[in-house]
Amino acid sequence: MPIALFDTATPLAALQERFVERMTAVVERGVFILGPELAAFEAELAEYVGVRHAIGVGNGTDAITIALRALGIKPGDEVVVPSFTFYATAEAVVTAGARPVFCDVDPATRNVTLDTVRTAMTDRTAAIVTVDLFGCPAPSPEIRSLGVPVLEDAAQAVGASLDGRRTGSLGDVATFSFYPSKNLGALGDGGAICTDDDAVAERARLLRFHGSRDKRDFELVGYNSRLDELQAAVLRVALPELDGWCEGRRAAARAYAEAGLDHYVTPPVVPGAAQPAWHLYVVTHPQADAVIAGLRQHGVQARAYYRTPLHRQPALAEFVPAHPLPATQELAATNLALPMSPTLSAEKAGEVVAALAAVL
Ligand SMILES: *Cc1c(COP(=O)(O)O)cnc(C)c1O
Repeated sequence: MPIALFDTATPLAALQERFVERMTAVVERGVFILGPELAAFEAELAEYVGVRHAIGVGNGTDAITIALRALGIKPGDEVVVPSFTFYATAEAVVTAGARPVFCDVDPATRNVTLDTVRTAMTDRTAAIVTVDLFGCPAPSPEIRSLGVPVLEDAAQAVGASLDGRRTGSLGDVATFSFYPSKNLGALGDGGAICTDDDAVAERARLLRFHGSRDKRDFELVGYNSRLDELQAAVLRVALPELDGWCEGRRAAARAYAEAGLDHYVTPPVVPGAAQPAWHLYVVTHPQADAVIAGLRQHGVQARAYYRTPLHRQPALAEFVPAHPLPATQELAATNLALPMSPTLSAEKAGEVVAALAAVL
């Protein structure tokens, strides 16, 4: 039996009956957009993250666009963003009307740092996007000291924490994705914006509903992007399971270490204050593609992420940075993700390491 890169089905199977129950209740109520399930999920998510406001939106990409607009980002502004991340992070900056300015990352943590961000800043920098890549929190609190609003893209890191503070509370504003394969997945698209800033929260609520409070007066040109009632009902069932799922992912990471993973590949470095949520378990090796092919022959799924970093993507050609991004280039060429799931057992992790030993 092959070991899958990720397994979202097993953890959800136990919840299926309750999903159907809660979804049936929504159908019977007959309210599908901006109703009581969303209000309750927003309160529960805000409480879990430790922020004053959570605002449910249509997906994690819209969450970034709307959060940037809520911060007051306007056409011509520059937004510093890593190049080694999912495309949506930078795409949302362009959709918000701003120019992405790509910065490098730390080769060990794969996250932006105070120094890589500072190198990319100019007097037009209006915001910084930090990404909690692969589920490990970026040093957003430190980066806030640069005096520019920080948006924490926590799409991959719900359930992680830094210095005892949860991801989603580490920037001036933060965004989540509830895409089905993310750590807290809906049964469809979904996203959220979290903030302690009352004014940013109010603008985000306006923007997700055409810039209107009452569908009569329109104060802003906004978006039509809400987390719907069915998805909110599903997420209310899943949220209480999240900590257990994250603990399962951390146990799998420990099992990799105990099986001697670092004899064969370079594992991620976790800052001492960080507790990662391991959305993906990404290692590096100079011959990453050959290792991926070899693992496949041993029944282990592995794959590369972001082989073409964002500053080399055709759609973003006008934003090619003036300075090189050596750590981004190196990580893009050498990374491979190994199987990672809440239910990946120590035995399976041992089999993955044994397969690596056979390949290498
Ligand atoms: C998944 C993801 C997004 C986008 O979320 P969607 O819900 O798919 O729109 C944004 N940023 C990062 C880092 C992601 O991994």
